[in-house]
Amino acid sequence: MVIPNLHYKDLKDSYLFFKISQKIKAYLEEHPGARLYRLGIGDVSLPLCDAVIQALHEAVDDQAEAETFHGYMPECGAPSLRETIATHYASRGVNLSSQDVFVSYGASDELGDILDLFDRSNTTLVIEPAYPAYVDANVMGGRKIVHLASGKENGFLPQPDNSLEADIIYICSPNNPTGAVFSREQLQAWVDYANRAGAIILFDAAYEAFIEDADLPRSIFEIAGARTCALEICSLSKTAGFTGTRFGYTVIPQELSRYGMNFNDMWVRNRTTKTNGVSYILQKGASAVFTPLGQRQIRENIKVYKQNATYLMRTLDKLAVWYCGGKNAPYIWLECPSDMTSWEFFDYLLQEIQVIGTPGAGFGTCGEGYFRFSTFGNPEDTKEAAERLYALLSRR
Ligand code: PLP
Repeated sequence: MVIPNLHYKDLKDSYLFFKISQKIKAYLEEHPGARLYRLGIGDVSLPLCDAVIQALHEAVDDQAEAETFHGYMPECGAPSLRETIATHYASRGVNLSSQDVFVSYGASDELGDILDLFDRSNTTLVIEPAYPAYVDANVMGGRKIVHLASGKENGFLPQPDNSLEADIIYICSPNNPTGAVFSREQLQAWVDYANRAGAIILFDAAYEAFIEDADLPRSIFEIAGARTCALEICSLSKTAGFTGTRFGYTVIPQELSRYGMNFNDMWVRNRTTKTNGVSYILQKGASAVFTPLGQRQIRENIKVYKQNATYLMRTLDKLAVWYCGGKNAPYIWLECPSDMTSWEFFDYLLQEIQVIGTPGAGFGTCGEGYFRFSTFGNPEDTKEAAERLYALLSRR
């Protein structure tokens, strides 16, 4: 009889968003028609920009004519798009070859699939609070997981020390859920650790486009030594509103090798075996993001989310509530007032001001006592939510 992957039994129920939806449902049953202010979602709310829409339409039309029709695309991405993405990195001072770049259907797919390149005996380090997929993908793979807790004392940006034993290291900067961003020096410490230990960093850059401070690194490859110890997974989901359209890219430098095996070559072999490429339509749509017009238009959308962050940060500043994130990230991570647990604070906001956020405890035990606001919502609702939050917490 077939033996299923028994590691699935080790997965914890992913009840965070389920529990939130149950609580909202119960509230609406008690208060029919109540207006809710949703700052919990990690999804974007603005549509794709015009440059992308136009490119997608053109790509659909191309598929209607024999002369312009495209069948299977190259598994690692259209050469011109790989080149475009490498040039995009060059504009930020990171030199990549187009062969270092692989196009994908998004970061989630890659974060799971990339584990094919690593033996099951490796130990995985997850810095917590964390995006839950890191832990779950490694549980499914049967790997040992080391949880490195972070907290207010280190601004949710922990540093490696020599007691750590890890082979695969997840770093997400700007971070989901904390919005914290590693400085150049802090990332350098991780890169130095990985090179010393022979470990590999899986750098999740899904939120890099939200960094506005010029001295903060947007790519791990801005850090000296990263080409021999890191790969980077990126996505247009939050950068350009592709959550439902799907597009991402992964950078694996050709220098990245262990035990005489080259990870770039292995990934080429993996993609050419397990995929038949990203659709022509999506690659053409994604290409438009990297044009000057596309860049200007996606910046307009990001500006809207940043305005949402400003409403919330000003409110928390006035209330003297501790938080991180917001300025260089689309998430704001705050300390729950009056020693409330994160679920108590969730209930309090829902019942008193109909504002919904995400309890920090859902992102790992060290997230207890903290709370995440997303800035991806509608601006009027976010402004109203910030005003309600001020009115509620200023009278305590
Ligand atoms: N990485 C992080 C940290 C995320 O928060 C998300 C989505 O919310 C993803 C990856 C997944 O992105 P994608 O939509 O490209 O699969």
